Amino acid sequence: MDCVFCKIVAGEIPSRILYQDEEVIAFPDIDPLAPVHMLIIPRKHIPSLAELTEAESSLIGNMAKIANRLAKNEGISDKGYRLVINSGKQGGQGVAHLHMHLLGGRQLSSALG
Ligand code: AMP
Ligand code: ZN
Repeated sequence: MDCVFCKIVAGEIPSRILYQDEEVIAFPDIDPLAPVHMLIIPRKHIPSLAELTEAESSLIGNMAKIANRLAKNEGISDKGYRLVINSGKQGGQGVAHLHMHLLGGRQLSSALG
C-alpha cells in the first residue's frame, strides 16, 4: 500500500521512533510547526478518524494517553500543549492514515480554523 505512515510503521522509511507498543507508534513530524511536534499513529492503516469503527474507538484514548506521556517527557505538560486530529479534505488531513498531532513548546494561536 502506498501510504507514507505504513512505510514508517514497516521501517521502510526511517524515522526516529519516540514511542512504540503493539498498537501505536510516535515519531517527530517531518515539518514541525512548533518546537514540539510529534505524530501518534496506529500501526494499523485506518484512513481517517471518520473511518474508525466503534470497535476501534478505544484507540483514540490510548493515543491521547501516549501523547500525554510524551508531553510530560518533553517537559511541556504544565505549560500546555495541543492534540489535533484532522479528518478528511475539509478537515485539513493531508496523510490518509489516522494520526494525532502533539504540538507545544510555544504559545499556540487560539484560532482553530
Ligand atoms: P495532516 O495534515 O493532519 O494529515 O498531517 C500530516 C503530517 O504528516 C504533516 O504535518 C506532515 O508534515 C507530516 N509528515 C508527512 N510525511 C512525513 C514523514 N515522512 N515523517 C514525518 N512526518 C511526516
Ligand atoms: Zn497507512
